[in-house]
This record gives sequence, C-alpha cells and structure tokens, in this order.
Amino acid sequence: MEVTNQGDAAASSPKTFSDIVNNEQLRQAVARAGFVTPTPVQTQAIPAALEGRDLIVQAKTGSGKTLAFTIPLLACVAKYSSPSETVAIVLSPTRELANQTTDVIAKLAPELAPVSLIGGMSMDGQRRELDHDRRIVVGTPGRVLDFIRQRVLRLGGCVFFVVDEADEMFSLNFLEDVRAILSRLPDNRQGLFVSATITPRVEVLAKSFLRRPERIVVSSPGEELPPVEHVYIEVGGEVTAKPTALCDLIETLRPASAFIFCNTKSDTELVEVYLRRRGFDARLINSDLNQHQREAILQKVRAKDLQFLVATDIAARGIDIQDLDLIINYAMPEFPESYVHRSGRTGRAGRSGCSLSLVGPQDFGGFLNLRRAMPQIEFKQRPAPSQEEIVTGRAAHFYELVRAGEVDIKPNDLLVVRKLLVDVGEIENPTEDLVTLIAKLYRFIVEHSIEKKQDPIVSSPASDRPQYGAGEHGDQHRSHGGGYGGGHGGGRGGDRGGGGRRR
Ligand code: ADP
Ligand code: MG
Repeated sequence: MEVTNQGDAAASSPKTFSDIVNNEQLRQAVARAGFVTPTPVQTQAIPAALEGRDLIVQAKTGSGKTLAFTIPLLACVAKYSSPSETVAIVLSPTRELANQTTDVIAKLAPELAPVSLIGGMSMDGQRRELDHDRRIVVGTPGRVLDFIRQRVLRLGGCVFFVVDEADEMFSLNFLEDVRAILSRLPDNRQGLFVSATITPRVEVLAKSFLRRPERIVVSSPGEELPPVEHVYIEVGGEVTAKPTALCDLIETLRPASAFIFCNTKSDTELVEVYLRRRGFDARLINSDLNQHQREAILQKVRAKDLQFLVATDIAARGIDIQDLDLIINYAMPEFPESYVHRSGRTGRAGRSGCSLSLVGPQDFGGFLNLRRAMPQIEFKQRPAPSQEEIVTGRAAHFYELVRAGEVDIKPNDLLVVRKLLVDVGEIENPTEDLVTLIAKLYRFIVEHSIEKKQDPIVSSPASDRPQYGAGEHGDQHRSHGGGYGGGHGGGRGGDRGGGGRRR
C-alpha cells in the first residue's frame, strides 16, 4: 500500500476546480453547481482518482468527501453512453446518505438520473428508474443485493465503485453484503474507500478490494492524538487456549500489522506456526536467527511486506519500528518496564494505538505486578470474540486469500471437487464459481495441514472452537489444567527438533 506524502498538496497555494479537473464539461458542471474552491480533501483526492487510481480517503465529516468522489465518478461514467449498463456504484450505510449522494450527483449531472436503491421504498418504482437509466446506482447494501439476486441489477460492467463511510460499511453488520456486491464487479475496476476514520481493519480489507491504493489523509491542525488503548482479554489455561485465542482475535480484528511479544523463544515458535497455519503472514525474530536472517525479516517489516512480527523483548531491542497500530502481549512481561517499552511502539505519528494483552492463569502474577507499578495505565477488559465474529472473520480472511490469488489450485483440484459435488453432493450442475471456490478452500486446507505436519512444534491440531475458559467471568477459570506456559518457559531452547515436546 502506498502512502502519500500529504502536507505538500495541502500546503501549496489554494487551487480552483479548474486546476484540478481536466475535463471541460465537468468544470462547467461544477461551476454551475456553485462550487469554486475545492476543499483540501478534494484537492488531493480528485486528481489522483482522475488518473484512475484506487484510493483510501480519510477526512473528517463535513470536509466535502462526496464531491471528492462524485467528480471522478462522473468523469468515468462520461465514457459510457448506454443507459442500460451500470457503470458506477456508490454504497452507503444509510438511506439518508444514499439520497444525499444521489442529490449531489444529480446536481452536477442532471442528464444522468442516478438511481437510489434504498430500503423502505417500493422496489417497483426503483426498477422503473433502472429501466430508464441505470448507469449510476447509489444504494444501501441490502437493497442493492436484493436487486442483484433478482437478476435485475448486473454489475459485470461496473468499472467504478465507492464505499462511502467505509468504517461503517465494513462493520460486521454490512461486511458480508458489501463483499457479496463487490465480488460481482469486474477485476478491471477503480475503487474508492471513503471515511472519516480508517481503521486498520478497513486497511486490511482494502487489500482484497483495491489495487495498490493510494492513501489520502487530510488531518486538521490541532486534532488531538488519540491515546494508546490498553486492553486485555482473559484466556483459559489449556495448552491451546492462548494460541487459538490469538488467531481468533487477529482474524476478527484484522489489524493491518502488529508486533506480537512473547516471553520465551519457544512461544515465538509456537505463535509463528499457529499464525502461518491460518494463512497469516507471520515471522518470528529471536536470538537463534543470525544477523542476515534478522535483517531480511526487518527489511520486510519496513517495506510493509510482512504483517506480523513475533518477537521476544530481547530480540525486539534495537528494532527501529515504532508506528504500529497494534501490539499484542502474548504473555505478560516479567517486568513492568518491558510492558511500557512494548506499548511505546504503538500510538505514534498521529495514529491511534492499541496494546492488547492475553492474560491467562500463568500471567496473573505479572499482570497484578504491572497494575500496581503503573496505576496510571487504564486497562479495559474486552470479551473474547463470539462464535459469530470468529466465523465471519475467518470467512472474510479466506475470501481475502482467494482474491489476493494466494491460493493456487492444481489442475486436478477442479476435477476432484466437481466429481465430489456431483457424485456425493448430488448437485447436478455445480457452477464454475462454486467449484473454484471449494477447490481453493480444499487446496488451502491441504497445504496448511501439510505445513503443520512437517513442523514438530505443533503436534496436535488446535481446536476450532473458541475455548478461552475465562470469557467474561472475571477471575473464574473453568480449567487450570495444562497450565500452558506455566512450566515450559525456560530451558526448551530454540531448536525445532523432537516432535511433541510441547507437553
Ligand atoms: P463529508 O462527506 O466529508 O462529510 P460532504 O461531502 O457531505 O462532507 O460535504 C459537506 C458540505 O460541504 C456539503 O454541504 C457540501 O455541499 C459542502 N461542500 C463540499 N465541497 C464544497 C466546496 N468545494 N465548496 C463549498 N462547499 C462545499
Ligand atoms: Mg460523507
């Protein structure tokens, strides 16, 4: 993902719409609508979008984001003259917003008749509007999907999309609908995510829907730095509880990147294996790596080419990477100062930060110690993700892997899956899409379980159920058995030999 060097554009002398809009017709339309001076977000976003780039646009409410995406949308639609094909779609979280957007588009281009597809209105009227001119559709996800499912709306030729209020749109309420809609767009489309706040989760999702997006951030002077949030989750004592909780959390929170701190080398190995088995891009750094390996990994982190770095405090020393959205304390450090060092790597450079701790029975002592030593830190407890959040998160993650082309199917996979669907599933004519999706899922599982088998660190499969034991019940733990981490910290060394040595 590329990050723009903001500031420059905002600092230069004020521009007019004529400076940033290269299309004469559009210039006139903007002037007719009474707009003279573009707002900062318009100055930055419009030229980039007119070049055809995918964008993630962040600017506060009221900063003029609607016009910032409407102008490039109209420039794109102007290339298509047939009113019977949908060329551009804007997704909004509410009817009111959808209507406001339709009004702005209609104001600039009255000849285009954008169609509002929103709930609570008759579908018949909307269908007639589509019949009249369906080039531009603005809508809420549920109603748009209704029209798609009825085969009234087709998006195979839709080459421009906007997800307005992206944070809201990628909340769990809308995510699946938005995904279902965007998956129908052709690959060669341009996309804009627009929002007042862009969470790490949105940035991760951007990867699966946008192509090398440019990030446009307009921050207003004097805006307060959000402080670092300190959150903890209670985890049960079973051997698999922590690594499973970690993977579930990462799958539901979808941080763009994170540092995961462990107390021991053996934990860094375990965490790396668990994350990689779930298809996450994770690498460990511990004292067993030589300088060359260490540098190679750090290079990847700096290039934002590695999502999760798993490290011990000692191995992390001297790593000059600070501006992380999230750090995770896989285990509570022995010394309070280590916690402060760890969490100091987040909440920098004008971004909010979060320090998230997994607290199991074996961490109680360290956690208590920390809270006594640092009473000024306000720790908030967070419940473990629900079953539904985990399932949604995992489905979303898988979809991303598939879309990113990271699951390569072998020629026979399709034939095997088709045969199974027909012979065992008794599905007469499985569609190509269905066969491909299942084949990718199959290939993903096969390859990740092979990786697991070859790795002696994890010898038994992690349960797929959440089993944190503690959940929301304060200090009550259903199980203290196993005591993961309790007795294996020290002398286990870093070699990867010897299967099943975890217990
Ligand atoms: P956002 O989506 O960023 O919250 P809007 O796009 O809804 O903000 O715009 C907020 C208000 O600013 C609207 O009333 C809009 O008409 C006005 N506005 C947008 N751009 C300009 C501009 N360049 N000049 C003057 N007013 C503008
Ligand atoms: Mg808006």
